[in-house]
Amino acid sequence: MGKRFGRLVVEKKSPEKGHAAFWFCKCDCGNYTDVASTKLIQGTTKSCGCQLKKAREKWKNIYKDEKIQEKIKKTFRKNDGREKNTKLSILELATSDKLKANNSSGVTGVSYSKRDKRWRSYITVKHIRYELGYFKDKESAIQARKKAEKELVEPILKKYKNK
Ligand SMILES: [Zn+2]
Repeated sequence: MGKRFGRLVVEKKSPEKGHAAFWFCKCDCGNYTDVASTKLIQGTTKSCGCQLKKAREKWKNIYKDEKIQEKIKKTFRKNDGREKNTKLSILELATSDKLKANNSSGVTGVSYSKRDKRWRSYITVKHIRYELGYFKDKESAIQARKKAEKELVEPILKKYKNK
């Protein structure tokens, strides 16, 4: 109690959920949240979620970057009429994740963590990696990655499609 993990300070023990121990933590932003011991210790959870929100804002700003916008426009022109390929190009442009040969899932941004026995989901934008969380099943990890792509990349796709 009273210990700090990132932006979270432990206030008291929360009721157990399943077999996992949870702690009631106060975030620097003023919000309260229940966090599992393991997540605090491993450093997977460092805020109430407000940091992820901030990261999302950051992504949006990256996409507003003029150079990136110009690249997106060019890609659209080049791929005129081939929407599927265009979408793929934009996604590759917007994110800089590279599919590793030894990627355990076969899906960009999703890999299996042997240490945590969990599927890890992440997205890399301009060489900055954002953790999307750890999941028991592969499908949830894929969904998290898809959601991040949808929230960040699709608005841009829509925007340029009408031009
Ligand atoms: Zn917070």
